[in-house]
Amino acid sequence: MIRFEDILDKVESYKPDFDEELLQKAYIFSAREHRGQVRSSGEPYLIHPLNVAYILADMRLDETSIAVGLLHDVIEDTLTTKEILQETFGDDVAELVDGVTKISRYAYVSKEEQQAETFRKMLLAMVSDLRVVLVKLADRLHNMRTLEFLPEEKQLAVAKETLEIYAPIANRLGMGRIKSELEDLSFRYLHPREFEELSKAVNEKLSVSGDLVDRIRKSLAGTLASNEIEGDVFGRVKSMYSIWSKMRRQEIDIGQLYDYLAFRIVTPSVKDCYAGLGIIHQMWRPVPGRIKDYIAMPKPNFYQSLHTTVVADKGQPFEVQIRTREMDLIAEQGIAAHWKYKEGRVGASGDDANFLWLRQLVEWQHDIKDPRVFMNSLKIDLYPDEVYTFTPRGDVFAFPRGAMPLDFAYRIHTDVGHHCVGARVNGKLVPLRTLLKNGDIVEVLTSTTQTPNREWVNMVATSRARHKIRHWLNTEQKYRSVELGRKLIEKEAKRYKVQWRKLVAENALDGVLSEYGISKLDDLYADVGYGKISARSIVERFATDEQKEKPTDAGVIQQAVRKIFPFTSGPAAIKVKGYDDLMTYLAKCCNPLPGEPIIGYITRGKGVAIHSANCPNVKNLMFNPDREIAVEWADQRQSQFQVDLEIVMDDRQGILARVISTIANLKTNIRQMDSRTGDGKATAELVLEIADLKHLEKVTRSIAGVDGVMQVERKYNIRHATA
Ligand code: MN
Repeated sequence: MIRFEDILDKVESYKPDFDEELLQKAYIFSAREHRGQVRSSGEPYLIHPLNVAYILADMRLDETSIAVGLLHDVIEDTLTTKEILQETFGDDVAELVDGVTKISRYAYVSKEEQQAETFRKMLLAMVSDLRVVLVKLADRLHNMRTLEFLPEEKQLAVAKETLEIYAPIANRLGMGRIKSELEDLSFRYLHPREFEELSKAVNEKLSVSGDLVDRIRKSLAGTLASNEIEGDVFGRVKSMYSIWSKMRRQEIDIGQLYDYLAFRIVTPSVKDCYAGLGIIHQMWRPVPGRIKDYIAMPKPNFYQSLHTTVVADKGQPFEVQIRTREMDLIAEQGIAAHWKYKEGRVGASGDDANFLWLRQLVEWQHDIKDPRVFMNSLKIDLYPDEVYTFTPRGDVFAFPRGAMPLDFAYRIHTDVGHHCVGARVNGKLVPLRTLLKNGDIVEVLTSTTQTPNREWVNMVATSRARHKIRHWLNTEQKYRSVELGRKLIEKEAKRYKVQWRKLVAENALDGVLSEYGISKLDDLYADVGYGKISARSIVERFATDEQKEKPTDAGVIQQAVRKIFPFTSGPAAIKVKGYDDLMTYLAKCCNPLPGEPIIGYITRGKGVAIHSANCPNVKNLMFNPDREIAVEWADQRQSQFQVDLEIVMDDRQGILARVISTIANLKTNIRQMDSRTGDGKATAELVLEIADLKHLEKVTRSIAGVDGVMQVERKYNIRHATA
């Protein structure tokens, strides 16, 4: 328990000539005013102001701030007025206590407005006298430390507000230590189960690896010493909230958690920091992309440090932060360290870069009346890892950096996401793959024919969107597999003259289902469609020996998928006779053309992929001959297929133009073109719209006939392989 004497000792340790009388007077005043009051914990109320004052002394603030800490609740919770404080303690203390009190006094109805207003008050207080905010942060910190005594509903509200307002402000002021503690405490109350699991997992890992922290710490210290670099080494487990946030960002679970140790080296000079980094990279392998130089490029809150992550001998990664003593003090205490015994007034501090941000805020708040607008513009600065975007109506959506229009679409509604084809950002049409920026006004464009595809999963930045896309894909895949499985079994049954529908109607399949551990017939179809179970093995069970011996024409199963009709244009409209449409698609690796030999392959859940018989992927795919299906072109209506051609030619003027006009003369469209030069050669990659194999041969021959063309080759895109 904190006693008043502890506070006096603490202040004396950094300011021997402090005004003890002021603190005595404030203590007695507060004790008298709060007499008889108790906290939810059952303790005397005075415990709270004492703790707040002690936290402020820990920040090494001036005695006025400490007195305000002792008195911060007297206007709100006792009969004391601002005037009485003025008479007793003077203007400074009275103004500050009044400022602290005002921050928590709400005149607004909606939760959102209330939060915005708290934000605004905090910031206004910051620019008028920063000490108000420091006292408020200390007040919140102690309230969070003792949150367990409040009812659960209150706990959640306070923890949420802390995480959304107080921790970001502490962070923006560079007060790393308070920020982390506020975050961890909020985390514990907002997500108790996750907090518990994570703490347990980290502790288990630590106990398994013995005194890992100590061993690495000693090893680091030894390495520095033997290289004559001065520096103190500290080791710790990263804060629970920071580990958890990162796990969520990277979507990893506890089993994959390795990055939880952090070490800090505090050196006398900047030179030692860089020297230390070099030595560490000689000793341990650095993780690429994790080296950060915040000394050369400080964070907006003036944090400076070198960061790297290296891998210990047993594969255990750990982060190392290297910084000078001064940088360390600023990293822990932020603005409070800068400010020290100076008066808290901002304007006075001239060109101190620390106050630039605050001064900017003063200017903003003059122009902005609506607190929500103010908070929205402010959030941009307080949360640098987030992007704030707007609907045309002015609603704000926050996303992690890296978000795309699809994230925005899924945020509006799942169906809007599923049908999103693009977006207008700030009035301009943009493709789906566009990074959203702060302040973008986003209008989602949809089409009823659009559906999610696999590439979307990697495109989106929010787990909500990713989850919705995966869910859709899985449902769709299941549906297609069931349909395909049903058709395959029915065709196979026909071949053996087994009356499948009758078997189904008579529930004759129950034995088979339970044998495979399957509860529904659809699941059996799905397994057949996925290729896990072969249709023949199911059907044969119901065939008589005679039927087994003489299955009608072995080609029936093949005939089933014999006909592929390329309708209208594009692979999306392909149909297979005997199967529903949607069941086949042209493999993207080879985009087969009507007329050329083709092979069908039952994919895992996506239907039948139609490959060109020459496709290099086919060889690899056909390791499983059961999944091969013979197919052939049936009808060759007018339609267009995309073909990639690579043309190698002399690098001389006009040659490409001649190639293009040759193609145009054959009434062939060029969809895409790309060319590059080197070694005296030019290579062009063209995507052409081709009707059939004959057409392609004609185009290829004509191009090859252009003077200077050395080679024309059809390209197969291996990256698009489907299995
Ligand atoms: Mn309080």
